[in-house]
Amino acid sequence: MEKIYNRWLSNRNNSRYLNELNKDISNKKDIDPHKAQIIHEEVFQEANCLQCANCCKSIPPIVSERDSKRIAKDLNMTKAAFKQQYTITDEDGDMVMKVSPCPFLAEDNKCNIYKVRPAACREYPHSGGMAFYKNINHHKRNAKYCPALLEIIRRLAQATK
Ligand code: SF4
Ligand code: SF4
Repeated sequence: MEKIYNRWLSNRNNSRYLNELNKDISNKKDIDPHKAQIIHEEVFQEANCLQCANCCKSIPPIVSERDSKRIAKDLNMTKAAFKQQYTITDEDGDMVMKVSPCPFLAEDNKCNIYKVRPAACREYPHSGGMAFYKNINHHKRNAKYCPALLEIIRRLAQATK
């Protein structure tokens, strides 16, 4: 994890570096989804999200109606009370967690509602297989927050050269 994390720390605000990587991966035809899945799995075997939790600290996740129902039930609250206490509607009209860092993030970087967490948290950073294509326009922004994603993009960019 250390290598991945340190590389991200040195490059996350380097627009030129990010633009170049983005250019390398933006031709979707060049990227094999199978390769994207392999690299995604490789990187997440090396990365340790519990040493990072930067997504939980920086990006309020989308919370769907289905997520709200599931989480509220787990917290023994009504869905309406959960939504009022924990969520807001953002500028895109999506319901998201109200505050960042996430109120369910524990001090040891574990998620206090892990089993019932929003789908957006389960799927972040949307980088395995076909998800890599579907979210290609968001990767550059997300790479500023996610060390694993930046590493996936870097390895994929190298693999397509
Ligand atoms: S719900 Fe859990 S996984 Fe999602 S942002 Fe909050 S702490 Fe992180
Ligand atoms: S930002 Fe990326 S590497 Fe860090 S905890 Fe989230 S998914 Fe894992």
